[in-house]
Amino acid sequence: MIAAAASPLNRAYLDYNATAPIRTEVREAFAEALGIFGNPSSVHEEGRAARTAIEAARVKVARLVGAAPEDVIFTSGGTEANALALAAQSGDAWRYYLSAIEHPSVLAGGRFYRETTTLLPVSGDGVIDLEILAIELEKHHLEGWRPFVSLMAANNETGGIQPVAEASEIVHDAGGLLHSDAVQAAGRMTLDMTTLGADMLSLSAHKIGGSKGIGALVVKPRVSVEPLLKGGGQERRKRAGTENVAGIVSFGVAAELASADLANTGSIGALKAALEEGALAIAPEAVILSGAAPRLVNTSCIAVPGAKAETLVIGLDLAGVAVSAGSACSSGKVEASHVLRAMGVAPELAQGAIRVSLGIGTTSDDIERFLGAFGALIKRLKQSRKVAA
Ligand code: PLP
Repeated sequence: MIAAAASPLNRAYLDYNATAPIRTEVREAFAEALGIFGNPSSVHEEGRAARTAIEAARVKVARLVGAAPEDVIFTSGGTEANALALAAQSGDAWRYYLSAIEHPSVLAGGRFYRETTTLLPVSGDGVIDLEILAIELEKHHLEGWRPFVSLMAANNETGGIQPVAEASEIVHDAGGLLHSDAVQAAGRMTLDMTTLGADMLSLSAHKIGGSKGIGALVVKPRVSVEPLLKGGGQERRKRAGTENVAGIVSFGVAAELASADLANTGSIGALKAALEEGALAIAPEAVILSGAAPRLVNTSCIAVPGAKAETLVIGLDLAGVAVSAGSACSSGKVEASHVLRAMGVAPELAQGAIRVSLGIGTTSDDIERFLGAFGALIKRLKQSRKVAA
């Protein structure tokens, strides 16, 4: 038998940016969809049932980002969506511009050559500088390159929201395309492909309460996409392979719930404000990174000078509170975060940064539990002189 995870009832789960707990409605829909066994490419009734389930989910995912259903290409997750976007415009004519705080699946997701790739810097608050973007694009304009810019909608570590709509305008004026990794932003802020101006948008189901291993690249019409996986005609020939029917169904249900919940993000914001206020009362020397920037309503990156993030994460875990140190996307390993480095955060501060991320299931009890455990840890650390008193 597979051991079940600790009950959410006796833990405070505050790591939604790593993954959100699967929603009850999603779990039920997923289980039911496992019974839809037909191959969606088959013409018989069983196949048609699977196709119908996929297309219903496609409509719901498209609605979450104000896109047309036919613009949605289902992938195995956010990582593949990013890789597909980056591979889509490969070739000699393109020059890549990536913000320095992109997720590793973007930074390492394409065939980049140093001569044709520019890393775009961010401010101390973790926001891209649009003037620098414009200057960089202008630099290579006369050389005849087409710019391909990847700028995430919101950062996974700090929650810092990027000015994607403004960047899109600059990129389009320069004759280029803009891809935005919206894996963390989806369901946490309103996203509309038209307003954003993005040509491609990456999404992942498990960050919004869907199952893992399913995501999408949403592509504006007329933007060509070179498939990464070839051979089959699935996903309008953009992504070969028999579809993950149950995963796609789960994504559809999660997207529908996330769209409805966008109206209620205020309560998550209030809980985050209480958390930050409480944390700063306990450790007035702590810094909320990206604190002055527009941020996702659910994300708080709290850096305690002189503390070690892993000590805090382990201490909190033992007290029944789940948070992460910087980005724990890949393996939970703790190493200097490229995001905080790009923001110019001093190493002594960066090494004490924890990410606390809330979601639809977060309660005021969770916040109290976090603050109780955080307070006890900081007190102990101060007593052992690891943190300046
Ligand atoms: N992009 C961002 C900003 C993320 O935070 C993550 C995962 O944490 C990914 C992409 C990768 O998504 P997936 O886990 O679905 O591959």
